[in-house]
Amino acid sequence: MDTLICPRCRGRAVGRVGMAQWYCWDCCVEFGRGPRGLEVFLLDEEGERTSLDLAAEEGAAPCAGSAAAS
Ligand SMILES: [Zn+2]
Repeated sequence: MDTLICPRCRGRAVGRVGMAQWYCWDCCVEFGRGPRGLEVFLLDEEGERTSLDLAAEEGAAPCAGSAAAS
């Protein structure tokens, strides 16, 4: 219906993964409408969801190879 864009990278490579949840293929975040508004989660390799504070982020980083450091 409506064109959805990623709240993090503003990309349009967004796919629906649940009732009110979407996944961005560009920066690998999951987002949806929660009780406090828009909620964004980072997914790690094990599929663990970490709440992401977009306002505290310097910028959207691509997910590929981001775990290589350390
Ligand atoms: Zn994105």
